[in-house]
Amino acid sequence: MQPYVSSFLVEAGKRGHRLVIDDLIITYKYNIVTAKIHAAGLCRKRFGHTPIIFIDTTSPNWRASDVSKEQLVFHELCHCILGKGHNPDTLMNGNFASIMKPSGETLYGAVLNHFKREYYLDELFNPKAEKPAWAQVNESATSPYTILDTLFYDDFDALQIEEDSNLIDDNEILIDSVKYKDWSLGANSVVRRWVVNGHLELESFERGTYTIPFNVHIPDSIDFEIKTNMVIPGGKAGTMSFYWGGSSLKDMFAMVINQDGNVSIGQISHGVVVAKSDVEIFNDVFNEIIIRKSGAFYYIFINGRLIDNLKFEGLNGDLCGFGVSGQSSEVWIDDVLVTHIQRPKPI
Ligand SMILES: [Zn+2]
Repeated sequence: MQPYVSSFLVEAGKRGHRLVIDDLIITYKYNIVTAKIHAAGLCRKRFGHTPIIFIDTTSPNWRASDVSKEQLVFHELCHCILGKGHNPDTLMNGNFASIMKPSGETLYGAVLNHFKREYYLDELFNPKAEKPAWAQVNESATSPYTILDTLFYDDFDALQIEEDSNLIDDNEILIDSVKYKDWSLGANSVVRRWVVNGHLELESFERGTYTIPFNVHIPDSIDFEIKTNMVIPGGKAGTMSFYWGGSSLKDMFAMVINQDGNVSIGQISHGVVVAKSDVEIFNDVFNEIIIRKSGAFYYIFINGRLIDNLKFEGLNGDLCGFGVSGQSSEVWIDDVLVTHIQRPKPI
């Protein structure tokens, strides 16, 4: 914990606050429950006693990355040292206004949204800090873009075959080898990947993360949009993911969504962190996912709602994919569309 406590003092100092911490205990605690909910950390202050910060180092907030650790420790230090309470305010783009938010999201990660750190630290030591320009988002799921080119498309619908077609008689062969691009389909005792009834299915029978990879070449210099539809079908527990821009499974960018509405975004190797935890995720119809890169930013939407705006960072390769994680889970995917887009020029 010490590096984060030291860094808290440094960041306070940069902003004109000379803090001294000489009476504080920070200790490990598993399964912290406060106000009937699980928490990753807790500050306990009682008159006449040394304040204690409990941190659950098994929590996702501690384990995800160095920056999520920092936010957790800073949050508890603000309770215990600065005497701050929770602040549920949000910015214009829906991001929380303060690290003192009441729930467990990570406001900045190591990649894509690291640029937000400066504002959040300013806000801790100066609650009147100016609202950041990056929170003023005028982008919607239906913003008017022109499609210049289709880079990838699959609707997973079987080819319409003429009655008298003598091309191929066997539908099975057609489905497996002709229509569905290069999807690596098949089944074994731990995972099943298949196209059926006009969609792609990925089902796992054992604990773990399983993927269906595919390749799309997206030049770094263009604006683009990835649009797809995903659902964890009724009653199943688990997590569905979309990956893009990787050279291998290790450096892909990732968007991870669980059935409870926790949405995490980041890069596999840098710890994917929870960006939003109150998104309505359907389990009976497909959820529409949009990852749009326009200019210097990504805009991420689920079911038409802006989830986050992030800074675009160069893609590492053409590898994309879908994933499922959990004990034994399943995800269905329909309509994958990747387009080169252009924002209409103002006249
Ligand atoms: Zn708190």
